[in-house]
Amino acid sequence: MKSSETNIEQVPAGQSKAWNFHPKLPIDMSPIFDLPPKPKASLKWLLGTWLKFSPPVNHLIFALITVYFFMPSPEGMQHFSADWMLKITAILFGSIILLGTALHLYLYVLAGQKMRLKFDVRPMERSSRFTFGHQVWDNVFWSLASGAVSLTLWTILYFYLASNGWTPALDTFGSSPVWFILFFFVLRFWQSFHFYWIHRLVHIPWLFKTVHHLHHRNVNVGPWSGLAMHPVESFFYFSSILIHFVLPTHPLHVFFHMFSLSLGALISHAGFDKLLIRDKETLNAGSFHHQLHHRYFECNYGSEEIPLDRWFGSFHDGTEDATLRIRARKKLLFAPK
Ligand SMILES: [Zn+2]
Ligand SMILES: [Zn+2]
Repeated sequence: MKSSETNIEQVPAGQSKAWNFHPKLPIDMSPIFDLPPKPKASLKWLLGTWLKFSPPVNHLIFALITVYFFMPSPEGMQHFSADWMLKITAILFGSIILLGTALHLYLYVLAGQKMRLKFDVRPMERSSRFTFGHQVWDNVFWSLASGAVSLTLWTILYFYLASNGWTPALDTFGSSPVWFILFFFVLRFWQSFHFYWIHRLVHIPWLFKTVHHLHHRNVNVGPWSGLAMHPVESFFYFSSILIHFVLPTHPLHVFFHMFSLSLGALISHAGFDKLLIRDKETLNAGSFHHQLHHRYFECNYGSEEIPLDRWFGSFHDGTEDATLRIRARKKLLFAPK
């Protein structure tokens, strides 16, 4: 065991027995919205994740490859026709199948890093509450039949409208370089903001029961759980693309955004904090913030970028105190009126 070399902290005894591994507690949010302002910490947080091969950098690489090697021509996309629509479908389904399979094989089938940095001690489940009685096949099915389908339909709709000049467009980097770069940062916050509100919506009890329940059958999660959503939830989740219908953007932004939503969900549900290859940290993976949501339900609806959960009292920072507070909140929310 060489975890000391990787600068990764294993759980000190007594910190939280609820997990096989968790990051340092209490977990925190981005410092961007802290008061008084913390400019140095904010800049470090904003730029930090762009300096290594981790999300969002890998999403940008996927987007660059797509736009410069596989992108259909704008003229061809002015009409609904099978050739370009199938190409977009193949890109989006292919990327999900490639990454989902690679992560699942490495982490769960080959057990490439065994239990190291795995949040939950439990394996993937066989249970009648899942479609096909098997968590992994259930998750693969819903990720492709619902998640990837919704992603593809929204993306095809966008490119059809954009190619006809019905959405504002940013044709080249040179036409507005500052906005071109700035928009990657805007997208990160937009995605977080949109996700929080969509997620709050599907936690309204009747929507939870009929729609969001499907995603929450995964109390412990794996890569394929990320997009395993009811079609209604998938539709809302990928409606995040609507920002490109009103603000001028480049196809690179659109694919970066769509890969952040799709591949990002596979990675954030990996169930492991980081990917280790030969005991070396290689990629930031699972989100402990969201893993807490899957276990305790009525907390951490958003993500770390915007502290909406902190502002609205639903932030679980991973500590035992927070668990007690969230349980009390849940009782209050679901008490008979
Ligand atoms: Zn989830
Ligand atoms: Zn939820």
